[in-house]
Amino acid sequence: MTRMNCDEFVETVTAYLESDLDGPELQRFLEHLDECDGCETYLDQIRETIDTLRRGPRPQLSQADRSALLAAFRTRPK
Ligand SMILES: [Zn+2]
Repeated sequence: MTRMNCDEFVETVTAYLESDLDGPELQRFLEHLDECDGCETYLDQIRETIDTLRRGPRPQLSQADRSALLAAFRTRPK
């Protein structure tokens, strides 16, 4: 069984995160993760990005908030 290199790791990381990896592929992935600090960091960053995306878009200002803000801007002393 050949060792996974970083390119393969990057190609496989999505499958891993979607739990699509199993058997030897998963084993090679985890082995590489274990011995490659760069890819460990990379995986952490991807997880963080996914977390951020899952949290979804920031809540929009309601119309009332928006009006109140605009009014505050208009009346802000110079
Ligand atoms: Zn690597």
